[in-house]
Amino acid sequence: MNRCRILIVGGGIGGLTSAIALGRRGFEVAIIERDPTWSVYGVGIIQQANVIRAMAQLGVVEDYIHAGFGFDGVEIFAPDGRRLAAVQSPRLVEGYPANVGIGRKALQAVLSERARSSGAQIKLGVTVHALEDDGEGVAVRFSDGGADRYDLLIGADGLYSQIRTILFPDASKPLFENQGVWRYNFPRPADVVCLHAYEGPRGIGLVPLSNDVMYMYLTTPEPGNPRYLREGLAQTMRGKLAGAAPRIAALAEAITDDDGVVYKPLESVFLDGPWYKGRCVLIGDAAHATTPHLGQGAGMAIEDSLVLADELARFDRIEDALEAFQARRQDRCRYIVEASRAICRAQVAGEPVDQARATGEMFKKVAEPI
Ligand SMILES: Cc1cc2nc3c(=O)[nH]c(=O)nc-3n(C[C@H](O)[C@H](O)[C@H](O)COP(=O)(O)OP(=O)(O)OC[C@H]3O[C@@H](n4cnc5c(N)ncnc54)[C@H](O)[C@@H]3O)c2cc1C
Repeated sequence: MNRCRILIVGGGIGGLTSAIALGRRGFEVAIIERDPTWSVYGVGIIQQANVIRAMAQLGVVEDYIHAGFGFDGVEIFAPDGRRLAAVQSPRLVEGYPANVGIGRKALQAVLSERARSSGAQIKLGVTVHALEDDGEGVAVRFSDGGADRYDLLIGADGLYSQIRTILFPDASKPLFENQGVWRYNFPRPADVVCLHAYEGPRGIGLVPLSNDVMYMYLTTPEPGNPRYLREGLAQTMRGKLAGAAPRIAALAEAITDDDGVVYKPLESVFLDGPWYKGRCVLIGDAAHATTPHLGQGAGMAIEDSLVLADELARFDRIEDALEAFQARRQDRCRYIVEASRAICRAQVAGEPVDQARATGEMFKKVAEPI
């Protein structure tokens, strides 16, 4: 396709990686991001070998690895702290680790710097006021009073996507999965050099993010989706860790800063129908948001970006490119959403979860080419 003008709505992980992938293919890209401060949580994210491969394809792998902490597997522990298994994860890119833990701020810094240097124009504090697709292009009016016209609009605006609502008002809505996740940063102990995952009805993990920092995640059943006030969050998280393995209990005592606790109810959504309409397409969480049990949500958004750029470069007609994009992405993203939900729902029901098997299967699946 000839150089066309593309608007990306949402400057999150998928929006930024789309800007990089499209910029490398010579497309003209603008991003609008609703949040004027472009803030992200201070905690981190785990990514697997398929993401390292995708970062290599985006040309950012060196900066990315440098900003995070690479490792090659997962150590699995029983709820009482006994070490049960070590699952080695396969490397997919020669010379690079199989997994990375990275702070969300560090990831955003790497991706936003590269999106800008790939030519993307980024506007903060702006969203879509109205859009009209006349078959030849998409006319957009912005919340700041501006207007412009694009050949394609990409909705990368996350779980509660405005663009999804405009395109598909009757599509499935995000579903609360009866669990929440609590996260907190700690100094990294020298022996936490890979993911330490504790099994049980509340999943607990320690994730290295850099030489100095690791974070703890804790998933808990949250029937009724309670809202927690910021004041007292540290004490609540400590309470949720009562009776945990000795190492976790010792760490829990250091959870004292309410502002350092990041709590999030877990929700998921998968669009069974089309992810595109005319000259507008959804990617990432806007089309398929997963619970984080396999650590693959952002990975799927990043892979979406590469595949979309690939298909847009391959086809002359946007409609053909969007159809090919969804055909390449649908089954893989569905697998991640469903396999993650299965772990979540079993934990909520108090059923045993074979985390080692589920993780091994996921590694195999995501190793397949995109
Ligand atoms: C608790 C938790 C832990 C997770 N852990 C992991 C993990 O370890 N590994 C992993 O791979 N994934 C993880 N994920 C999933 C991951 O965060 C998401 O899948 C990923 O962020 C999706 O990227 P995205 O770009 O689609 O959406 P987002 O990152 O949500 O970005 C959407 C962006 O769009 C902006 N926006 C929203 N609406 C508008 C609008 N109307 N106009 C303009 N801008 C708008 C938002 O401000 C945001 O910047 C986790 C998710 C949760 C909830």
